[in-house]
Amino acid sequence: MTHPVRNVVIVGGGTAGWLTAGVIAARHQGRIRAGAFSVTLVESPNVPIIGVGEGTWPTLRTTLEKIGVSETDLFRHCDAAFKQGARFARWTTGAPDDGYYHPLMLPQGFTQVNLAPHWLESGEGRSFCDMVTPQGVLCDDGLAPKTITTPEYQAMANYAYHLDAGKFAPFIQKHCTEKLGVRHVLADVKTVNLSEAGDIVSVATEQAGEIAGDLFVDCTGFRSLLLGQALGVGFKDCGDVLFCDRAMAMQVPYESEDAPMASHTISTAHSAGWTWDIGLPTRRGIGYVYSSRHISDEAAEEELRRYVGPRAKGLSARKIPIRGGHREIFWKSNCVAVGLAAGFLEPLESSAIVLIELSAKLIAEQMPANREVMDIVSRRFNDVNHYRWGRIIDFLKLHYVLTRRPEKFWQDNTDPATIPDRLKDLLHLWQYQPPWFFDEFDRIEEVFPAASYQYVLYGMGFRTEVSADDNGGTRAMASGYMREAADMTRKMRAMLPTNRELVNKIHQYGLQPI
Ligand SMILES: Cc1cc2nc3c(=O)[nH]c(=O)nc-3n(C[C@H](O)[C@H](O)[C@H](O)COP(=O)(O)OP(=O)(O)OC[C@H]3O[C@@H](n4cnc5c(N)ncnc54)[C@H](O)[C@@H]3O)c2cc1C
Repeated sequence: MTHPVRNVVIVGGGTAGWLTAGVIAARHQGRIRAGAFSVTLVESPNVPIIGVGEGTWPTLRTTLEKIGVSETDLFRHCDAAFKQGARFARWTTGAPDDGYYHPLMLPQGFTQVNLAPHWLESGEGRSFCDMVTPQGVLCDDGLAPKTITTPEYQAMANYAYHLDAGKFAPFIQKHCTEKLGVRHVLADVKTVNLSEAGDIVSVATEQAGEIAGDLFVDCTGFRSLLLGQALGVGFKDCGDVLFCDRAMAMQVPYESEDAPMASHTISTAHSAGWTWDIGLPTRRGIGYVYSSRHISDEAAEEELRRYVGPRAKGLSARKIPIRGGHREIFWKSNCVAVGLAAGFLEPLESSAIVLIELSAKLIAEQMPANREVMDIVSRRFNDVNHYRWGRIIDFLKLHYVLTRRPEKFWQDNTDPATIPDRLKDLLHLWQYQPPWFFDEFDRIEEVFPAASYQYVLYGMGFRTEVSADDNGGTRAMASGYMREAADMTRKMRAMLPTNRELVNKIHQYGLQPI
């Protein structure tokens, strides 16, 4: 007798819970409509969602399109704006003009030829980013990545969103319950009931009694009520590699309604961490992520207020303790964790929501037909997630290891004992060959491709001792792609509206639905 998986119970109604519900319900819509499958989301009416997390990754466009959300509605209901990457200011030397972009567009011709050696040879003082893609210049000019006639989710320049995290979860909730048949239960989970074999049989709630299921998704945030607490899966701390353990967030109004709105995240290094600065249509979200071992909360708040300037007067700062790391495994028995319940890494590259999307997609695609095959799927899920979290830790650390800033926080970050071995090896290798496909960037859904490593390395002044070869005409190809990037820059600058102009137009007219 097999035990079919027909009822999925998600506990937690933050971004993780609702995105996971949406992705699973959309993928299994036929069975839901036929009454053969159900997705139930249980959410506490008393425990608020974390309500931060305003930077996303371009994957969100595909995820939202697939679950049937209108992009125009997203802009109108979530205070959303376009994001085309991040600018890292003062990370290398700390000087006022020290900065580089990690854009969302790949270098032109990325799959055909590695432009890094050609830029190293002929860059003539121009940044790697500016030689290989138009996107840094588009960000400098505060431009949008498309025009009002570009249909929903389509792009002229690759993009993600900045959005109000407090509005995003309720927005997806409405779509899930009204369009996708997700059952919503507002109740506090008090106990988690286990079978003798260690599976979760049901969750007992205060307001809605017992809720049984075949597969449970833990989206309870930092609490990790199901996987961490009930199933006792430990937490693997990564504070020895990534030191930041506090965040302090502020919502800062603009000087005027039509003030310019950056189309990239501005990430500025400070004495013991860095600030994010995200432009939404109605306000900026600004926060300092720092290491309490290197700075006191009071001094951090002073630094944050200094960064914000006179507009910080009278604004309150919300302190959020953070713990970098992840669960030792992500799926145990019939319970899988997604979102903060699975782990958290400092939000330097907006990697949390993209991990939620990828996890939800994997669960939806590989939904085990029955309990008997679930352990095969969970092993796969755990393998992929260990790989992903490990790679993201490496990539985040890369932003710190090349710094020449003198403060203790930054110098401690360059201590080889704090650098993961795989990253150390790659840094050694990259002295002689630039990152490209072969550096183990071999998974289909790589969160950060080799191009991301190129932007950070060369943005921070790393040099690879390599001469550009001309095998098979690569030199001509490379100059062709660099010329193409320059042409695109000219054309796009001439035609693209500003981020604010386009967002205003979307509010007024909407984008053309696909
Ligand atoms: C400072 C900071 C900045 C961040 N910036 C970014 C960013 O720029 N980009 C990015 O991608 N991510 C970012 N993140 C991460 C992002 O905020 C989260 O990954 C995302 O919001 C998902 O949160 P969650 O849904 O897992 O948890 P939460 O939002 O905490 O939701 C937990 C849910 O569990 C429910 N719950 C808890 N206990 C119970 C119970 N007993 N019974 C029933 N329900 C219960 C709660 O009611 C709630 O609905 C940031 C995080 C922090 C801390």
